[in-house]
Amino acid sequence: MDTPHRRFPDGLPRDLLALGDRAFLRALGRPTLIRIPGTGQQAPRAVVTLLHGDESTGLQAMLRVLRARDPRRRYPFDLYLVVGNVEAALHGPGFAHRYLDDQEDFNRVWGLHEPTTAQRRAADGILEELRAAGLESLVDVHNNTGDNPFYAIVTRPEAQVVNLATLFTTTLLRWDLQANTLMEALHASCAAIAVECGLPGRPESLAFAVDALRRYLGAPPLEHDRIVRDFDLLGGLRKVTVRPEVRFRFGGSLDGETDLVLAADADVHNFVEVPAGHVLGRVHPGSTLPVRASAADGRDVTAEHFDVVDGAVVVTAPVTPVMMTRTVEAARKDCLFYLATELPRPDVAA
Ligand SMILES: [Zn+2]
Repeated sequence: MDTPHRRFPDGLPRDLLALGDRAFLRALGRPTLIRIPGTGQQAPRAVVTLLHGDESTGLQAMLRVLRARDPRRRYPFDLYLVVGNVEAALHGPGFAHRYLDDQEDFNRVWGLHEPTTAQRRAADGILEELRAAGLESLVDVHNNTGDNPFYAIVTRPEAQVVNLATLFTTTLLRWDLQANTLMEALHASCAAIAVECGLPGRPESLAFAVDALRRYLGAPPLEHDRIVRDFDLLGGLRKVTVRPEVRFRFGGSLDGETDLVLAADADVHNFVEVPAGHVLGRVHPGSTLPVRASAADGRDVTAEHFDVVDGAVVVTAPVTPVMMTRTVEAARKDCLFYLATELPRPDVAA
């Protein structure tokens, strides 16, 4: 009987690694967990890719790292590689869907303990194996749907987690939204982060991911009693969504089919503080706010941040937008962007 996820517990066969990205995914066919045995001197590490089917950079980077690796040199740790939503990645032209219409978001189903679907059972099976592995650390590689600098997401700004994140980038974002991500399902037992590698399909995104993954796979055990590099930390995230009944687009002008037009280049402000009065988009006269902002606990905080002034949707206080998308699909399936504020440096006692 087919298990919900595929397993390669003894390494990735060379002939699979030789395939192109799409052929590789076709050969896997479903969510897959690969273990590449190391020498065992260090605790196991894990790299997670394609939890979102349109975020190709992580898988492409890992395949490049593994193909270029001297096969005689083994890592000092077992390396686990997760290839997530293979079905979504293969659908249509390829790397075109975050998840399919008849699926859930594969980065929102971890640790649910409600195995009602094949996808949830695949997540449970992979999670069980990763928990049993005794991981030192896990890195979940994503792309953004809008222009963003490279950044890492941390759920707990402890020394070991920060030291892991800053192997990738020193721009850190604290995430405390409890969204049933894989990172959150494991953060109590190992250092777990997500790394956001800019837009998919761009050479600079891939080059960043390849470099950073090589640094990670070549790094000694993570220090856990002191933070070894300086960094910037944003957090206090508040999720901004377009109200479901509102028809919207990026760029262009308002017409009978559109209730909200967002700036075409709204994503250029990602990770840059905007002042009060900054215009997010335009609505027809008489319209009320077409967006909703919610705090981590679900509280509606729209009125604290937005207003409509003369047909313009404006922010009412300085704030830093992050993860602003530039596609309607991503805004509908996840959110439009998050509001963030700069956090003080965490106090890490030795
Ligand atoms: Zn993602």
